[in-house]
Amino acid sequence: MSEEELSCSFCGRAKPQTDLLIAGLDAHICDRCIAQAHGIVEEEGSETAADTASFELKPPKQIKAFLDQFVIGQTDAKKVLSVAVYNHYKRILNPQVDEEIEIQKSNILLVGQTGTGKTLLAQTIAKMLQLPLAIVDATILTEAGYVGEDVESILTRLLQAADYDVENAQKGIVFIDEIDKIARKSDNPSITRDVSGEGVQQALLKLLEGTTVNVPPKGGRKHPDQKFIEVDTSNILFIAGGAFDGIEREINKRLNLQSIGYKMANTSEEVDKDNLLQYINPKDVKSFGLIPEIIGRLPVLTYMHPLDRETLRSILTEPKNALTKQYVKLFELDGITLEFTSGALDFIVEKALEYNLGARGLRSLCEAILNEAMYDMPGGEETALKVTKAYAETQLKKANTSKLKAVS
Ligand code: ADP
Repeated sequence: MSEEELSCSFCGRAKPQTDLLIAGLDAHICDRCIAQAHGIVEEEGSETAADTASFELKPPKQIKAFLDQFVIGQTDAKKVLSVAVYNHYKRILNPQVDEEIEIQKSNILLVGQTGTGKTLLAQTIAKMLQLPLAIVDATILTEAGYVGEDVESILTRLLQAADYDVENAQKGIVFIDEIDKIARKSDNPSITRDVSGEGVQQALLKLLEGTTVNVPPKGGRKHPDQKFIEVDTSNILFIAGGAFDGIEREINKRLNLQSIGYKMANTSEEVDKDNLLQYINPKDVKSFGLIPEIIGRLPVLTYMHPLDRETLRSILTEPKNALTKQYVKLFELDGITLEFTSGALDFIVEKALEYNLGARGLRSLCEAILNEAMYDMPGGEETALKVTKAYAETQLKKANTSKLKAVS
């Protein structure tokens, strides 16, 4: 065969029409086909890399260690959560290991006062796994057909968080805040239609369990013409959180009943009356007004400790992105060295407790204390600021503290 008669075995181009023709055993390939094939290899490679990267699943101890970097205290919740997250994603990574034993989802219910770190835990887990996270408030959800958002809107948010990558969204995390606010208001569900309560719980059931939903990608009713996107919720991890104000009463009642009816399992153990939440069990959540079906679909139940003085103090300085570290960085960008004395930190904690602002208040307090300096100092002569207790006190007096109180 002459040189001119040779051709690419892939695209058929004759040798003179190519820049390069490489010979194999009994075939040839031209420069263009090589480039195209290389492109395909690259693309395939990056897809598998992305898939595995988003799923580098660490064992529970390492998950907890990661949480420790960002969330102070809450050891019990972190342990329970680490195991649940581990099991959940292990199940996804090993689908149908055994046809007979189908591993169920480990959706989670977190009970604890507001501002104790429930959302932060969900955010940190999503950050660790590099998965999309949607944070929704249960109070805005209503049954289909009522004013408010349908439960499908939860999935619209998740799709948005995943940049409309459906695959990724289907492995994502949904944090449903204030789940306690959709508790059944009365013990008799049939008297009137309970728009905000039981109906929403019913609508949530399927979602929690795993179902295929047609999701309006832009959300709700404002865009009636949009094409729906099908989302399967079977592998989405749902974390529900709520303060469940007053649930201690239910816990107390149950504990008392138990001690009358039977002997307490651990009679030697004193009941810690100041922190009854640690004894919470699904029965209490049911007495509070969540329907049993919902509780069944949130099988992992754990609780958050209220934040005490010591924890608040740690929150100010210890987490990887602690508030004080953030302000130091902000000032540093203007060439200013910022420092907090220990007395100033104690003072900030004191005020957060006094105004009953919890951890959320720490930020408003820091903002109020540093506002004047953040206004005056950039571009000025001074290159250092030491925040002492006296300085903090003076600045806070100047700031409108009634505004701070309103935050709570
Ligand atoms: P919740 O969801 O329980 O109402 P959040 O997670 O929104 O509370 O917490 C509010 C803010 O308080 C967070 O942004 C975080 O800065 C801080 N915070 C609360 N609890 C902790 C904690 N245990 N460790 C570190 N920061 C915390």
